[in-house]
Amino acid sequence: MDIVVYRFSIDRMLAGLARKLLILGHDTYLRTENDTLRAFLTRALEEDRILITTSVRTYNIFKGSKRYASLKFILARSEDPHKLLEGLVGLGFNFERELVLKRCTICNYPLEEVKDHSCAEVPEYVKRKFSTLWYCRSCGRYYWPGSHYMRMLKSVERYIES
Ligand SMILES: [Zn+2]
Repeated sequence: MDIVVYRFSIDRMLAGLARKLLILGHDTYLRTENDTLRAFLTRALEEDRILITTSVRTYNIFKGSKRYASLKFILARSEDPHKLLEGLVGLGFNFERELVLKRCTICNYPLEEVKDHSCAEVPEYVKRKFSTLWYCRSCGRYYWPGSHYMRMLKSVERYIES
């Protein structure tokens, strides 16, 4: 079965959910302070993203507008990321293990596997311990399966398909 990378647009009050979706490896745009409502809706429509918000006002604008008729919209009843992830699983979303931590949790950019350990930014003990690192070309961060990784993995473990 093909692994599906979902595309989400997440409203600002759901930043906790956005972070977990990024850890799960899905393409997740978090609305910024500068995004007007119109810009936020338009981006989701143009980039074929599933928009998730708790804002009834936003929902009413979406419902009342022909322009956004084809937008995929989820009105969340909670800001709790765990409740929301359970809800997404209930709606039929599958979160595959292969995608976990394959995306930068800061800038939503796919990570590249790095075997060359010449990078100066990574501590020596990490280079000795892990043969594979992941690199974000957008922000220059390196990721490795250390304790921070394991904590992130644990926080989403129960939603991953097994
Ligand atoms: Zn990054």
